[in-house]
Amino acid sequence: MITIGVPAEGPDESRIGLSPETAKKLVKQGAKVVMRSGAGLRSHFSDEEYRTAGATIAASDAEAVSTADIVLTVRRPSLALVQAMKPSALLIGMLDPFSDAEVLQSLGATGVSLFAMELMPRISRAQSMDVLSSQANLAGYKAVVDAASAFERALPMMMTAAGTVPAARVFVMGVGVAGLQAIATARRLGAIVTATDVRPAVKEQVASLGAKFIAVEDEEFKQAETAAGYAKEMSDDYKKKQAALVAEHVKTQDIVITTALIPGRPAPKLISKAMIESMRPGSIIVDLAVERGGNAELAKPGQVVEHNGVRIMGKLNLPGAVPVNASSLYARNLLAFVEPMIDKTSKELAVNWDDDLVKGTLIARNGAIVNAMIAGRIGAPPASSEPAKAKADVAAKPAAKKNGATKRPAPKGDKT
Ligand code: NAD
Repeated sequence: MITIGVPAEGPDESRIGLSPETAKKLVKQGAKVVMRSGAGLRSHFSDEEYRTAGATIAASDAEAVSTADIVLTVRRPSLALVQAMKPSALLIGMLDPFSDAEVLQSLGATGVSLFAMELMPRISRAQSMDVLSSQANLAGYKAVVDAASAFERALPMMMTAAGTVPAARVFVMGVGVAGLQAIATARRLGAIVTATDVRPAVKEQVASLGAKFIAVEDEEFKQAETAAGYAKEMSDDYKKKQAALVAEHVKTQDIVITTALIPGRPAPKLISKAMIESMRPGSIIVDLAVERGGNAELAKPGQVVEHNGVRIMGKLNLPGAVPVNASSLYARNLLAFVEPMIDKTSKELAVNWDDDLVKGTLIARNGAIVNAMIAGRIGAPPASSEPAKAKADVAAKPAAKKNGATKRPAPKGDKT
């Protein structure tokens, strides 16, 4: 019988990788589920609910993971926790694969197989396992709600006997998963919404949500999307034209939500200090790209910076501020990935190491790093996850196209 263990997360993380709903489904599949007591409480999942779902409650993290074949986490756990696991076990979570590669190497050296959910290939079969999308969607929503709450005016237009309250103007920069949800949320709150992106495909999506698309639509813009559906780094000439357009537009905006990212690169700087100074006091900027350097010049991770009466909010882990939904969706993402690893007859761990989704997310196995990009950062050649197979098989190239399916070119966690 397969055992699945879930330890508590650290103090900065309110989400959890197992919900009572997914615990029940795993138990139904024949798994033994061991949950650290109290680990779901910040998502309002009580021990009692997990017990009712069929899980066993463990008194300590070590007890939750020591007999597990699979350990589920939200964040990268400590070395001590991984050392408490069986060397044959799998650790599955958002392991932030491209920062502190040396730390990852020491986690991998325990023999535990490490899986980074951020590296999930973005192919249709893996949509239910796409943690970046499930979490970015909530981040986009929360960014608008936070901005609306900090904004000392109303968002919708109100016509009253005492006069008319004008609708607030919200500008969304970067219309990926988070940006689309930000537009939808701001529209529902009654704001006048505009949005920009460098990918032409976005134009129609913006219009369908009732917002106005604003961009420099030159020849370069028409070619700006990669085969994988991501933004390219734009030329200096384009950036200048974009900055001029944004500068004019931002002056008249009340709330700006920035979400612009380019895989494998620092976040593009889209809002300069001068643009911030052109906004009227009381305006709000929420920078969702702050963990990757920020889209706004004065944004600081984890802080609210006030400049000339404009507040630039750089809150970290916005999905963690909606933990009940974020945990529920993340737990479902993990369930979809783990289910095929349970043999239907024997109920034992049965990983198909040749599966594209397993290969795409696996970063360490048998004591060594098997992901080429991470190995490159430590200066070690990637070890093969399957000694009998060709190395090219396991060198997890996220940019590669296979069977006509597009894959994510580089993870959001890439801090370089
Ligand atoms: P992301 O987080 O990498 O980037 C956010 C947005 O910022 C993108 O839309 C990007 O074009 C934009 N951007 C980059 N540079 C910019 C600039 N200078 N100015 C303005 N905007 C800029 O993107 P994401 O949310 O991960 O989504 C990227 C794409 O992947 C989307 O087309 C999305 O629909 C697609 N996607 C596919 C799948 C799947 O097939 N399973 C899943 C999720 C997302």
